[in-house]
Amino acid sequence: MNEVKVNDKLCKGCGYCVHYCPKKILELGKVRSSKGHFYPAVTDQEACIACLMCATICPEGAIEVAKGE
Ligand code: SF4
Ligand code: SF4
Repeated sequence: MNEVKVNDKLCKGCGYCVHYCPKKILELGKVRSSKGHFYPAVTDQEACIACLMCATICPEGAIEVAKGE
């Protein structure tokens, strides 16, 4: 399974990744980081197609996508 990891120490809560994910599986607004920003959670990890759009669009370099089997 592909795995999306968000580094809450880098995320500024801009929401770009949420907006541009083609599968709409990222969601802001539930979890607040240690820096006080709402950072994205993955709502359906299994649906991730590892397109890397979220990692590419993130201006803070806060997302890593690990491709699974
Ligand atoms: S890799 Fe693609 S499908 Fe997976 S969470 Fe990021 S933007 Fe969405
Ligand atoms: S694009 Fe990056 S900085 Fe913006 S909400 Fe997503 S993870 Fe956070």
